[in-house]
Amino acid sequence: MADPVETGSAFCVETVLRAESLCKSFDSHKVLRNVSLTVERGELVSIIGPSGCGKSTFLRCLNFLEIPDSGVVTIADDSIRRSSGPWRASDEALAHQLRAHVGMVFQSFNLFPHRTVLDNVMLAPRVVKHVAPSVIEAEARDLLAKVGLEAAALRYPATLSGGQQQRAAIARALAMRPDVMLYDEPTSALDPRVAEEVLEVMRALDREGMTQIVVTHDIRFARAASDRIVFMESGEIIETGDPDEMCLNPRDPRTREFLGASL
Ligand code: ADP
Ligand code: MG
Repeated sequence: MADPVETGSAFCVETVLRAESLCKSFDSHKVLRNVSLTVERGELVSIIGPSGCGKSTFLRCLNFLEIPDSGVVTIADDSIRRSSGPWRASDEALAHQLRAHVGMVFQSFNLFPHRTVLDNVMLAPRVVKHVAPSVIEAEARDLLAKVGLEAAALRYPATLSGGQQQRAAIARALAMRPDVMLYDEPTSALDPRVAEEVLEVMRALDREGMTQIVVTHDIRFARAASDRIVFMESGEIIETGDPDEMCLNPRDPRTREFLGASL
């Protein structure tokens, strides 16, 4: 995490994302039970927990790829309050605004296969931003350089390794200048050496002060790179804390059991 900005004598922390009491059920299956989380600018937060505990659903609810049944999500200045009831057109408009602050990266890369890497990165800004194409292309090439892919700009996704595709997906998510990046198991489809290239990009973004939330099975990365680890089980946040402290001395027996089996 970048050092907080010092203003006078006070350290200024800025909340970028706040989830309050998110609940989500699929039919009668309660997948999220009052999940609350606050993330400050520049934090890298790892979410860990057993398969099926609701990690992906939580991440997807943060940008309304999944509609929570109730709760509040605030990102940057936009806020959506849900109380169970129909999802309305006005909610969708708010969700659209809120999504503009969020970059999302999935396990399966999800690049557009029929577009070059450069086109993938330029696509959203070109549609949304009213800026000259040359400016958008220059920014996209800068982002590709940042993720180590400047030489691959004109290649198609299928000709790239998984690690390169994932780095291209990160560049594409960054192109809208999000306030927060969400990653859902970004390295699970990659072998460890290639995964490391992706993790290094995330560390570099952290050094630049990007706010990031990552769902991961990689406890070593979570411990070494995160500012905070969140442990989820059965649709609840069981424990959240300093990575070393949580790994060495988990407070809750469920965390201890999970980490004991994962380390
Ligand atoms: P995790 O990412 O922690 O593995 P998920 O959030 O993907 O967990 O899933 C949590 C639970 O919700 C699982 O039991 C899963 O089967 C269920 N679930 C997820 N998405 C859906 C869906 N669209 N419809 C029905 N059940 C779902
Ligand atoms: Mg998942």
